[in-house]
Amino acid sequence: MSSRRTLICTSCGKPIVPGEASVNFPCPNCGKVKIWRCELCRELARPYTCPSCGFEGP
Ligand SMILES: [Zn+2]
Ligand SMILES: [Zn+2]
Repeated sequence: MSSRRTLICTSCGKPIVPGEASVNFPCPNCGKVKIWRCELCRELARPYTCPSCGFEGP
């Protein structure tokens, strides 16, 4: 199951649904991890925490 390439929202931990207005960008601090945010978290501007370096940001 974890072998599936399911994308998880970094903010809320829910799977990203293909086709929704999600965004992804490399961590602005370490650049090692891609931060994924679902449409809802993007709209609500929820904070995220980088799983690699612990950087928190909007
Ligand atoms: Zn989310
Ligand atoms: Zn980072």
